[in-house]
Amino acid sequence: MKFHTTDKVRLTIPKAALIEVFDECDGFDQDETGGRVIGTFEEHRGKINIQITGIIEAGPQARRSAVSFFQDGEYQEQVFRKIETEHREIEHLGNWHTHHVNGLQHLSGGDIETYHRTVNHRNHNAPFFYALLVTAKHRSADPLNRYAVKHYIFRRGDERIYELRRDQVEIVDAPLIWPERAQHSHGNRDSHPKHEPRANPNRAYDNDIVSEFYRGVRPFSSAKLGVYWRGPLELLDGSKIEVVLLEDSAAANPTYSVTLREPPAALKGLADEIAKVEFPSARAALITTERSCNRALYRRHGDMHRVDFSA
Ligand SMILES: [Zn+2]
Repeated sequence: MKFHTTDKVRLTIPKAALIEVFDECDGFDQDETGGRVIGTFEEHRGKINIQITGIIEAGPQARRSAVSFFQDGEYQEQVFRKIETEHREIEHLGNWHTHHVNGLQHLSGGDIETYHRTVNHRNHNAPFFYALLVTAKHRSADPLNRYAVKHYIFRRGDERIYELRRDQVEIVDAPLIWPERAQHSHGNRDSHPKHEPRANPNRAYDNDIVSEFYRGVRPFSSAKLGVYWRGPLELLDGSKIEVVLLEDSAAANPTYSVTLREPPAALKGLADEIAKVEFPSARAALITTERSCNRALYRRHGDMHRVDFSA
């Protein structure tokens, strides 16, 4: 695999971000590990300035081996949504992971395939994907020189992989917005209790099913509504109905309710009925809604056919 150079990217990374990364590396000598990189960017005439402002940890359900690493995406998304409510400008820039445990000095074929797919996915907001790779462990007392890293950029619609040169990466003194302990490093940590987002094992399955089978329906989060999904549901007759799926997480086990927006006459009765139902998961809510709508449409068409036959 050939890695290209580019003059069109500049990267700013706080020392605190590298410390986060290296601290995590210290904890995983045998297995790969990593996390998400968040921050902001400006794009001007094809040139991109990237500022890293946070690192999201791998999460409690992350899976690690000497040659593979899978992040706990559900946990990370919850963290991201939480950060997003206070920092609207924040973007998912990419991720970081380690290869020093297996000696591979570059991104693997699997990494490259995944990042190309991610950068070209419509759910990925930024026109690039950033990947930090830890390639070697040094015997150094300097906390910033404990490991060697490489920086890669994938750009949307571009087959090439760019490796940044040292002079394109500026290491700065700046605070991180995540993890929370990094912003309170000089304060009393006990006075800032950490609010862990409650783990919801259902949400991983929900996200899988919804993103696979209900492509238009996307997750959102707002201070007022909390977590919700919204988007068009495609029905049997080719029509679409807009659904809003709301999570009520007040109880120990969250429940889900469905609203059909501006339902056509044929689905009005159904819309009223389904709004009263509490579903145990988002996927159950969507599947039931889809089936019920299709049944209602089918029955209506059946009626029309009977009319046709009698004529
Ligand atoms: Zn890798």
